[in-house]
Amino acid sequence: MSSQTDTIFARASGAGKAGVSVYRISGPDAASILRSLVGKPIVNREAAYVAVRDPADGSVIDRGLALLFEGPKSFTGEDVAELSLHGSRAVEEALYDALTRLGARPAEAGEFTLRALKNGKLDLAQVEALADLLDAETTLQRKQALGQLDGRLSEAAEGWRKDLLAVMAPLEADIDFPDEGDVPAAVAARAGPAIAALKESLTTFLNQSVSARKIREGVSIAVIGPPNAGKSSLVNALAGSDVAIVSDIAGTTRDIIEARLDLGGVLATVADTAGLRGMAGDVIEEEGVKRAKKRAENADMRVLVVDASEVGSREMLFAGDVENVPHETLALLQPDDLVVWNKSDRRVSELSLEMAHSPYTELSVSAKTGAGMAALVQVLKEKAAEGANTEGPALTRARHAAAVEEALAALTRAEANITRAPELAAEDARLAARALGKITGAVGVEDVLGEIFSSFCIGK
Ligand code: GDP
Repeated sequence: MSSQTDTIFARASGAGKAGVSVYRISGPDAASILRSLVGKPIVNREAAYVAVRDPADGSVIDRGLALLFEGPKSFTGEDVAELSLHGSRAVEEALYDALTRLGARPAEAGEFTLRALKNGKLDLAQVEALADLLDAETTLQRKQALGQLDGRLSEAAEGWRKDLLAVMAPLEADIDFPDEGDVPAAVAARAGPAIAALKESLTTFLNQSVSARKIREGVSIAVIGPPNAGKSSLVNALAGSDVAIVSDIAGTTRDIIEARLDLGGVLATVADTAGLRGMAGDVIEEEGVKRAKKRAENADMRVLVVDASEVGSREMLFAGDVENVPHETLALLQPDDLVVWNKSDRRVSELSLEMAHSPYTELSVSAKTGAGMAALVQVLKEKAAEGANTEGPALTRARHAAAVEEALAALTRAEANITRAPELAAEDARLAARALGKITGAVGVEDVLGEIFSSFCIGK
């Protein structure tokens, strides 16, 4: 990234034609550039209706709203100017041209946020939260990201670090006065419980991180079963249901049919896999079966679809006596997965699913008529949102969990060393504090910048 003394600009709002587009200018010359464009000084934090003029000939580029946020009380911490103008290509081109001639340059992807980070307006966990908020598609994702952006995780991480400092104080006192008689015992008596308490709260957060990441990353559901059971019909029915997320996300081309659903606030990707047969017919089909299996194994949940009008009974199915549903397919199922008896509209006799002692959740539906689909969606919602909550700080990324794991390992070593080698325990406590510092970027920020900022686009 380029020098921070440049003044940068970019459109902050989305691409394409729009009623209004917001342009952001940040850097030491932002205020003077704004003044040159609008021909008068703009008062800090007071919206003004202005004519934006080309500095070369004074012609009007467009009219709109101008705002100035003097640093450090701005998003980036620098002087920031914002212009809300009509969202057209021609306005944008003329504005960019004028801004360039006034000495500003186009911002690189994520550069505004990077400046906010460097100027201490956001820490690393908040930068991640901002990226998550921009990507959020469900209510829970939005709530979680907003909480983290408000500094929930950062405050927790800082709190843990403070607790550690309190632990280290008596340990370091011991290093300073190594000759005093019973000091190790006294130190252990004070530091031991503090370390144990911190370990306990870190462990709790670590255990909750699975559901925190489930909200952020979403869950994957693989629909499996023999050809013609109605897998595609089922996925299509789900895609057409009121939980479907129909927004188009650029860059997500897929070779498998997928539906993206909002299941009680948890984003779920439901994939229709190639039919799983007992024996593959040819090489291409064999490859398809292999992929379907892999997808099923890696999914968070599996839905086995069977044709209820062809399968005589549950007993036959689970005994592996149904053609095209071999043991191999049944073995993919895990407890709590779903078995969907499709084509209920064709079945002559009722399946007695209520009475069934089954490790799976079994449902009778018709993808064709829609019967039972609402119940299926309800079950999927319950399973997807299980354990998901957005209260309190959350370790939403593998990076956070790794930092906490590292801290826990160091604390375990510290515990072991307290009485026999307090100086080593103090060093371990220091290492634990360092590990926790990675969460907010107080430690090791350069190592992760590239990865974190790769998800930002221009204007952010
Ligand atoms: P897949 O090979 O498992 O993906 O199965 P398809 O979704 O392609 O469905 C196979 C056939 O079953 C198609 O002719 C569908 O129209 C039909 N089908 C799917 N679901 C139902 C259903 O609930 N009732 C009836 N009567 N036919 C269905």
